[in-house]
Amino acid sequence: MSLRTRMALYYTGATALLMAIVFFLIFFTVDRVVYSHFDDELRHEVSETLSEAHVQSRDVCAFGSLKELGLDEVRDGRDETHRIRTVADIDPEFVQLVDSAGHVVSKTANLARNVLSFEPSYSGVRYFNTMMGGSAMRQVQVPLADRQGRIEGYLIVAVPLKSAMIVLRDLKNIVIISFPLLILILFGLTRLIAGRSIQPVEEVSSMAESITQESLDRRIVLPQQRDELYRLASTINGLLDRLQDAFQREKQFTADASHELRTPLAVVKGTLDVLVRKPRDVAHYEERISYCLDELNRMARLIDQLLMLARYENDRVTPKIVRLDLGEALERVAERMEPLAVAKNMTIRIDRMASATVAADHGMLEMMLENLLSNAIKYSSEGSVVEIWYGSRAGHPVCAITDYGIGIPEAKLPCVFDRFYRVDESRSSGTGGFGLGLSITRRLADLQGISISVRSRECHGTTFLLTFPQARN
Ligand code: ADP
Repeated sequence: MSLRTRMALYYTGATALLMAIVFFLIFFTVDRVVYSHFDDELRHEVSETLSEAHVQSRDVCAFGSLKELGLDEVRDGRDETHRIRTVADIDPEFVQLVDSAGHVVSKTANLARNVLSFEPSYSGVRYFNTMMGGSAMRQVQVPLADRQGRIEGYLIVAVPLKSAMIVLRDLKNIVIISFPLLILILFGLTRLIAGRSIQPVEEVSSMAESITQESLDRRIVLPQQRDELYRLASTINGLLDRLQDAFQREKQFTADASHELRTPLAVVKGTLDVLVRKPRDVAHYEERISYCLDELNRMARLIDQLLMLARYENDRVTPKIVRLDLGEALERVAERMEPLAVAKNMTIRIDRMASATVAADHGMLEMMLENLLSNAIKYSSEGSVVEIWYGSRAGHPVCAITDYGIGIPEAKLPCVFDRFYRVDESRSSGTGGFGLGLSITRRLADLQGISISVRSRECHGTTFLLTFPQARN
């Protein structure tokens, strides 16, 4: 079922329920009002009849003898034309007196040969509907008792219901006919309006449908009004921006990776091609083969890093977070980096503060520290110092790795964590880096909830700062 039909159905269903309740209340109220109006009229007639017969009127009236209430007597005391109306009147009233057995004692002339129905089972004053000569009547039956409380007879007063029945019947007919008609019209209208309202949604979805991988740069035209549809369209556009960005980065990554791999491969192939062309002396072979081995090692390192990146980019990798001593981890990493530092006549200095416990994954943390420390050594000049400081800041364990090397230009700082980004190809080429180390480090930091930031001044040095999440006990 289409959305607009569903919307129309829900709306019409709810309105139909409300309308049914309202119609029922109207009908019920009119019905009540009409009957109470008749009952008032009957009550009034009863009390007038009884008072004119000098009888106290209550639900049951007490008097000496039923004959005292002869209707002739009643009629005599009234203005005939005014009080007891005839059958020809628009709204005549019929009065009848019966004895306790239900035999008619007296009745008004307008009844002619008709008699009002008597219900012996009704003991008190009762108002009810009845029929007389094929016409509906509203009737009251009042018991009359003598001074000892014995029922002597009943006073029955009736008025024709005809006009009221017509009103009620017409009202019922109007309701029965108009209700389904109104519901049908309402359903049609709602469906039409719902269709119009969701038309822009259909436009948005058909436009979104037409955007494929090849046309990722296309965007949905934003509607004029800044309503929910505007938000939907701009949300989809935002999603497309991110998708295009991710797609672009993936493409760039593949291009960069193949470029990085192609270069050493071409070097090795070229070198070997030259070597096989004619015989050379052993020293030449040794020198060329070790050159090729260097290139192959470089390729192997790159493949290792690519595999690592692919592994950690995968969200299914969950770090095994444990509480560990940051100082001990730093000591171990510094020890492993010692040969690199010694080769450049450098010193690694660790400022031992109070022991800092951090929550991190053992292997991942050491890999991060190794990358940062090796960079610090790589991008420092001979004989320089690398300082490591760790402690606590605003309740968080922190670790800073500072070198006094070539530094990073301020404009390039935001890019250093990008994949395959090297600040300066020429200055990095000698270091053999691929520009992947920091992106791996950042990914590892993200996985462990560690924040990583960098501060640097060109020709003065660089500091990488790690801020750890609070280690819970
Ligand atoms: P690489 O393997 O090239 O070192 P990284 O991702 O580790 O790749 O670093 C990205 C770039 O950031 C490097 O090429 C280098 O130019 C710069 N860089 C990283 N660390 C430092 C540092 N401590 N001092 C100066 N430059 C740095």
